[in-house]
This record gives sequence, structure tokens and C-alpha cells, in this order.
Amino acid sequence: MKKNIDLNNVEIAFEYKSDADLKNTLMIYRLIQKPRLVKYLTKIANLILQYKLPLKFLLKKTVFNVFCAGQNRQEAARTMSNLKKHGVNTVLDYVAEGDNSDESFRINLDTILTNIRFVGEQSNDSFVGVKLSGLEDVEFIKKVEVTNVTPDIKTKERMHVFLNRVDQICSLANQQHVKVYFDAEERSTQDVYDFVIESMMAKYNKGKVLIYTTLQMYLKDRISYLEYTIEEAKKHGYLIGMKLVRGAYMEKERDYALQAKKESPVFDNREDTDNSFNKAVAICLKEHAVVHTCLATHNQKSVELALELIDKYAITDHFNKVFFSQLFGMSDNLTFNLAKNHYNSSKYVPYGEVEKAIPYLLRRAEENSSIEGQVSREYELLRQEKSRRKI
Ligand SMILES: Cc1cc2nc3c(=O)[nH]c(=O)nc-3n(C[C@H](O)[C@H](O)[C@H](O)COP(=O)(O)OP(=O)(O)OC[C@H]3O[C@@H](n4cnc5c(N)ncnc54)[C@H](O)[C@@H]3O)c2cc1C
Repeated sequence: MKKNIDLNNVEIAFEYKSDADLKNTLMIYRLIQKPRLVKYLTKIANLILQYKLPLKFLLKKTVFNVFCAGQNRQEAARTMSNLKKHGVNTVLDYVAEGDNSDESFRINLDTILTNIRFVGEQSNDSFVGVKLSGLEDVEFIKKVEVTNVTPDIKTKERMHVFLNRVDQICSLANQQHVKVYFDAEERSTQDVYDFVIESMMAKYNKGKVLIYTTLQMYLKDRISYLEYTIEEAKKHGYLIGMKLVRGAYMEKERDYALQAKKESPVFDNREDTDNSFNKAVAICLKEHAVVHTCLATHNQKSVELALELIDKYAITDHFNKVFFSQLFGMSDNLTFNLAKNHYNSSKYVPYGEVEKAIPYLLRRAEENSSIEGQVSREYELLRQEKSRRKI
């Protein structure tokens, strides 16, 4: 790294947290250090929800406040403006998981459209996160073949409705100058999602990048997909947006493959995933004339690699081309120290009613406690800041 950046400066990392917030976060991280305890707490949280026990306030005051920005858009706005004071942008993400009805997909679409208008009014550098599984039934998507098969009329009509919903999102984002990050989910839905998002990039990413797809680099086929996408963009004269993640559904993917007696689409070991993630970072940053990149990761080594490559490829306008993003409540050391050093950094900021956010929160707790070293690293930094503040 040319610039000497301390990504572990705890004073900068937690400046935005009051003493009370810091203590609460420390308490949560102390609890989730123990995977067995997380499993136990998960059961209790599910019981609270199932039997509608009047303990919602307890969840709200504790784990909800660490990982969620509020129960509604107005509460999220307070978090967004607090982050903005520290130079950190927001990727607004509504967390509620609905059922598979058409009614639910329409409500989700309306929520996303309202969010785009909302964040567009808040700041010039705004983003929304979108899960395509909220707009059409994943079981239907899994059955759609994107190549070599002529779909029947019903499938065609349904796909048309789905495409139209996605287009409404992109078109409004285009009017409001809001960037859209399409999340990646299960591998079995990804071919259809790739096809849809590529068509949106070709339509809206002309001379600017508004539409981003997500590449899960734990998948064995993503480097070749990345290379293919870059070639297509060059051939047809549009730009591409790539959000790079390692991937959050590893166990699920392996289980599916095992059940179907197929080879797992996910690398068999951690090292291969890391190599693939870092290779994607290198390809994207080298191709910065065509690709705008978001490193959505809590991995400090990958962030440091990107900082080196920004220098190596002399990406002087990196603020508009290279983004760093972490989940709200996680790796504040990276987010806030990057922002302080004038890199474009953001938080994925989920919001939603406490009851509806619980599945999201439980995933965060389980993910944190299962990623080796993640929780203890967070805990140690929080502890250092508490002792620095002498509280
Ligand atoms: C802003 C943001 C947006 C995100 N959006 C998405 C999204 O759209 N879709 C999605 O799937 N995830 C998404 N994620 C979640 C992301 O995939 C997880 O945070 C990630 O899995 C953790 O990776 P890391 O780089 O932060 O941390 P690290 O701790 O460096 O990596 C942990 C990851 O490495 C991989 N890994 C660990 N062990 C093995 C193994 N034995 N074999 C193979 N691979 C292994 C897994 O992917 C594991 O999650 C997002 C994360 C962020 C921060």
C-alpha cells in the first residue's frame, strides 16, 4: 500500500457509537462468541416469536439494535445520517421475508421503489440492495431454462411479469441516480438472474454504472463468468457493475449437491475461495475502464489487496469506481477507517419490523459465530475501544 492506512484504528472505527451502544455491541459479541449459546439463543428467539411473548423490546434493545438500522424507513434515516456524518454511505435493504404469493411480490416491489425514491432524496451517493427472490417464486425460477429451450406460453408470460418488475426498479433507479446492488442467492437461481441482470446492465449502464450484479466467489464457475461478462460488455459498449462476495450459502449448496448426487458448485476448501475472490478483485480492478467494483467483504487481507491494486493500476478516480461495503454491525474498523481515508465505503443497512427481521438477525449471529476468528476479532476491537474510552 502506498498510503499507510491503519485499518484497525478503534477510535475512528467506533466514533459513531455512543458509550451505551458500544457496551451493548460488546455484550452481544461476547454472547455470540459461543456457537452453542447462539444455537440456544436462536431457539429462544424463535419461541418468543412463535408464542408472541412480550419480549420484543428485549430483542429490539439488544441484537436488533446492533445489526439493524431501525423498524421503519424513518428510523433507518437517522442511522443513515449518522453514518454520513462519518463519510460512510448506505446501501438500504428491507429485510422482511414474505411468503411466495403474487401479492407479497407486489408489496416487495412497491417497498423497493419507495426505497429508491427515499434514498435518492437523501444523498447523491445512494444505493439499494435488491433480492430477486422477493419478486418471483424461486421454485419457478429454478425451472426456467435460459438457453436452448423455447418456453411455453405460461412460462413466457410469467417471465415477462418478472422482467417487467426488475425493469421498473432499474428505470426508477436511473431517474433517481440510485445504484442498485442485486444480491446473489442460491446457485440454482443464478443462471436466470444473470440473464436478467445482464440485460439490465446493457440497457442502463451506458456511460455510467447503476446496475450491479453479485458474484459469489466460492462458486467454481464465477471467474469464467466474470471474464465472459467483461467481453460481452466490451463487445456491446456498456459498463458493468460487480459486487464481489465470498458467498453465504455454502452448507446449503453442499447439501443440495449431495442430495442430487452432483458435484458441489462450491470450492472444497477455504483457500480456493480466497484465491478466487482475490483473483476476481485483480481482474475487476485491472479492467476498471469497463468494470466498477464493490468489495463486499469483512476480510481485511482482501481489502488491503484492493488498496494495493488501486495504486498499481493508478485508479485515480477510485471513489467513483471502487466501493467497499460491510454489513451494519460488522467490521466497523474497515468501513470507518476506509471512509476516513477517502475511499468510498458503505454499510449494508437492513431495516424492518423486529418480528420480520429475526430470521435475518439469526443468520447474522450464526454466520458470525461460524466464521473462524470473525467474532473474536470484532470483540477484541470493541474491547480495546471500551478501555480507551475508560468506560
Ligand atoms: C455488503 C455485503 C453484501 C453481501 N451480499 C451478499 C450476497 O448478495 N450474496 C451472498 O451470498 N452473500 C452476500 N454477502 C455475505 C458474504 O457472502 C459473507 O459475508 C461472506 O460469506 C463472508 O465472507 P467475508 O469475505 O466477509 O469473510 P471471510 O471470513 O474472509 O470468509 C468467510 C467465507 O469464506 C468462504 N469459506 C469459508 N470456509 C470455506 C470452505 N471450507 N470452503 C469454501 N469456502 C469457504 C465462505 O463463503 C465463508 O462465508 C454480503 C456481505 C456483505 C458484507
